[in-house]
Amino acid sequence: MMMVVLTGCATQPMPSTTPVIKAPVVDPTPRQDLLLPLSTGQREGPGETYFDPHHTGVPLFDLKGRANMKLSPWFRAKDFARSGHTTPRYARIDKRLVACLTRVRDATGHTMSILSGYRSFAHNQNIRRAGEGAAKSSYHISGSAADVVTSTPVEQFAIAVYLECGCNAGFGVSPRFYHVDLRNHPVTPWGYAASAAPRLAIARKVQRNVCGN
Ligand SMILES: [Zn+2]
Repeated sequence: MMMVVLTGCATQPMPSTTPVIKAPVVDPTPRQDLLLPLSTGQREGPGETYFDPHHTGVPLFDLKGRANMKLSPWFRAKDFARSGHTTPRYARIDKRLVACLTRVRDATGHTMSILSGYRSFAHNQNIRRAGEGAAKSSYHISGSAADVVTSTPVEQFAIAVYLECGCNAGFGVSPRFYHVDLRNHPVTPWGYAASAAPRLAIARKVQRNVCGN
């Protein structure tokens, strides 16, 4: 067994207006040191149930009996493992996402809940077939994405995400949640609904100011 290692807590107060800040480099290695057992014998090959199309190296864990295990002061394994109301037995959980969302939670001081974390490749395909708009190569499939529900205003939340999760974070704005993911290249924030446009514009401004693109 390996231990949870979460390094660093953001203690600086959040700025009230968008400043020009240089975001820190975030650990690019998603290899795990979470206190969770690895799965054995699951179907992880191309196109199979637990396939990771991004080849992130985030392992597939066996959460049997461990869904309630705390991964940080704010989050349990099931928070990152579930999509909707069901918690699967097997899930990928990116330790970097656990760490940076924990720091985002510390920095904003507002409660956060995860609406959707890991989705198996098969589950994501089912969502797509149902016409529910999941991306073909969603980072949820890698365990490197979370849809976060919080009362934190978009400017404050986006600043915290780019500072704590780095400038290769993906950031999506929905009327109900913020999508946050970790990838290996920057991406312009996107919206999930026309009604999110004003908040999306704020997120894009934050990205330009914090990340310079
Ligand atoms: Zn999402």
